[in-house]
Amino acid sequence: MAQRAQRPNRYKIKEACSVKAVVIKGAGDIAVVDGDQQALQEGQVRVAVQRVGLCGTDFSLAQGQLGLNTFPVTPGHEVVGVVRESRSPHWAEGDPVALDPLLNCGSCEACRSGHPQWCNQVGVIGVVQEGGLQEELVLGAQHWVRIPDAVSLRDAVLLEPTHVVSTVLSTVNWESIGDLLILGTGALGLLLIRVLTYLAPHTTVWAYDPVPERLDRAVQASARRWSPQGAPAVDVVIDGVGAAASADMAAQAIRPGGHIVVYGVPKPDTAVTTAALLFRKNVQVTYSRLYSHDFSQAVAWIESGWVQASAVVSDELTLDQVPPFLREKRWLLPQRWGKAVVVVREEG
Ligand SMILES: [Zn+2]
Ligand SMILES: [Zn+2]
Repeated sequence: MAQRAQRPNRYKIKEACSVKAVVIKGAGDIAVVDGDQQALQEGQVRVAVQRVGLCGTDFSLAQGQLGLNTFPVTPGHEVVGVVRESRSPHWAEGDPVALDPLLNCGSCEACRSGHPQWCNQVGVIGVVQEGGLQEELVLGAQHWVRIPDAVSLRDAVLLEPTHVVSTVLSTVNWESIGDLLILGTGALGLLLIRVLTYLAPHTTVWAYDPVPERLDRAVQASARRWSPQGAPAVDVVIDGVGAAASADMAAQAIRPGGHIVVYGVPKPDTAVTTAALLFRKNVQVTYSRLYSHDFSQAVAWIESGWVQASAVVSDELTLDQVPPFLREKRWLLPQRWGKAVVVVREEG
């Protein structure tokens, strides 16, 4: 990170002493509480949180099903905001930033070779330590990614999911990909479809989701409706579900010699029974978990307009609306076809 000169405030943030935060105390036990403002140490940055995207990780966490954390914890790993106070030469008050939530040891073989997701101490801010569903978040300077001036925070809240998508797509060899099938068309599936219209304009993108409202969105976003009957065998399947049913569908749909990429998180008891079929078809399978600290591809895609909130975000909530949303599992309602974003503080 290059040292940057102080510049005039782009955003005026009112001062706060107590900090409102969503706290998950245990499975289904979720509240908004007022906490004390955290002291700022040397090298740290205080960010006024503006928007936080929710995803399946948060939903599993709220139900106590993630198994990676201790309670209580404040969720939120898809975070954008504005620097309120900096004790780092790399950041200045008013800088718009997004969170890089990946935690790793930094010194093992995997970390030193640029694969922090292989570190045996890998973790995510908002899961193993306090995340961004609060009015401000204090973290070391290295946890923040610069948002270009031309990008709105409304779009930039999709930076982390876009980084997931760019990591998934980086595993695919794009030479001679005629047909590609996306399983699961929630927010990440929609992001994939959107990016592929630019990245692979000559590839036919098929999509499947058991929720009709979601599949309709995928079709509106230019994907073709896939069904097991009459559809061609595809060169690549991208499985965002990670369940036994999606693994089965992928094994049926893939052509011999094809490539299946699984980025949906399998449940601990998910049993994949398609080994014989995959072997016969000589299929390559990649599991894509997490990502590196290099968000530059995702930043570039958002900056060039490939990724826009209007195509992916279906709901906006306030901080106070988060506990009932999580408790009542409202993300399962079919009309919530995309991502829910918590507007902690309005821009401007
Ligand atoms: Zn997420
Ligand atoms: Zn490590």
